[in-house]
Amino acid sequence: MSKKVAILGGGIVGVCAALEAQKAGFDVVLIDRKKPGRETSFGNAGVLSESSVVVLNNPGLIKALPQLLKNTSVGFRYSPWFAFKNLGWFLKFLSYCTPKKTRHAAHALRALMVISLDRHKALIKEAKVDDLLRYQGWLKIFRKASSFEKFKAEMKIMDDAGVRYSVYDRSQIRQLEPGLKPIYDHAVLVDDTCGVSNPAKLTDAYVELFLAAGGQVIEDSITGLAQQDGWQVDLKSGQQINVDQVVLAAGAWSAEIASWLGYRIPMLWERGYHRHLEPADAPALKRAIHDVDGGFVMAPMQTGVRITTGVEMRDRDAPPNYTQLDASISDARKNHGFGDPVDAEPWMGRRPTLVDSLPMLGAAPRHDGLYFNFGHQHIGLSMGPGSGQVITALLKNETPPIDIAPFAPERFPI
Ligand SMILES: Cc1cc2nc3c(=O)[nH]c(=O)nc-3n(C[C@H](O)[C@H](O)[C@H](O)COP(=O)(O)OP(=O)(O)OC[C@H]3O[C@@H](n4cnc5c(N)ncnc54)[C@H](O)[C@@H]3O)c2cc1C
Repeated sequence: MSKKVAILGGGIVGVCAALEAQKAGFDVVLIDRKKPGRETSFGNAGVLSESSVVVLNNPGLIKALPQLLKNTSVGFRYSPWFAFKNLGWFLKFLSYCTPKKTRHAAHALRALMVISLDRHKALIKEAKVDDLLRYQGWLKIFRKASSFEKFKAEMKIMDDAGVRYSVYDRSQIRQLEPGLKPIYDHAVLVDDTCGVSNPAKLTDAYVELFLAAGGQVIEDSITGLAQQDGWQVDLKSGQQINVDQVVLAAGAWSAEIASWLGYRIPMLWERGYHRHLEPADAPALKRAIHDVDGGFVMAPMQTGVRITTGVEMRDRDAPPNYTQLDASISDARKNHGFGDPVDAEPWMGRRPTLVDSLPMLGAAPRHDGLYFNFGHQHIGLSMGPGSGQVITALLKNETPPIDIAPFAPERFPI
């Protein structure tokens, strides 16, 4: 009989883990309180990145800190009360802003992203949703020459990690993206990065594959987790699921669930928003574009141009605060002529972020048969498949396809 595995959390990370474990011969149940893919994995910018190797806590953050602390930037806002309550976490986060630690993170992420992008391409083909995939790369654009100059420090880290990119000047940007107004001084096109035009449909397609191969999806809240002759997962409905092994992949809720077993995971969340706008009366955008000085991303989606925001550090379940989104939307409309909002309400998600900006992938230190797969921060859509491959290798007691030491749970005293 095949071993039974429960995946806790059905975001893109959990769904990919479920698919990989199933393909390896496990009998897999995927549990989420919602339809899979309806939290953070629903509303991202759709970038399938193999290039986002420069973590937020890099040396440049220290230089930018005095300005960011004023709490007026469109790309970053925080609740002072939240920062005060979590001061220890923030100080630890800042302690990673060294060249050596930034380089270490870049190489670790690059390895995971590269295997993930290959796997996404194969899964997209298998799921027959090639229409969602685009190959035109991912563009960073700079309004000010000084911002491009600052970005050169990141380009050095990208070089070091083997990321390919091309630099375009003001006149060339028009040929690359004729739909953009000529307000940009420089652009950096990350050539190999891909994107999807509907992240929710991508997750749905992967879930379809999983179901078609005999996988089980349960929509219910996980309320308890206990190790007893294998694992017992308690659900809100009163149902109990008994399995041999468990993978915790509940995004921003993972630390809370792990705390039921006594783990203290140094994880917070970075909230982010989106809203779709009617496209402009101009050539359509070809790819997701990060307006670095504007502090937002414009991503062409099936439903319109998705404007996604930067980072908001605030209580996970506090009511939404649309300040950053409203500013981003009015900037994008003014500068690019986008039309009215398409959706009635903006969307909000929570990026799960560990203190060193790397995900936690590996066996739980004090519990046999429990595996951690969370903390994918800004690039969980990109890194879901590779993370699933890593966890499946561990479930099978085999060597993972990449070095997972940088992601080990034991790197923190949890
Ligand atoms: C604005 C924005 C833009 C982004 N853009 C990109 C991008 O372009 N490319 C990229 O790679 N990444 C991007 N990201 C990041 C990416 O979306 C996340 O890293 C990724 O979605 C995390 O996936 P996850 O499966 O870990 O978490 P989630 O998608 O949040 O899934 C966790 C799941 O666990 C479930 N859950 C939690 N607790 C319980 C419980 N007790 N019982 C049952 N179920 C539970 C939740 O319902 C949820 O479905 C972006 C994020 C944001 C916010």
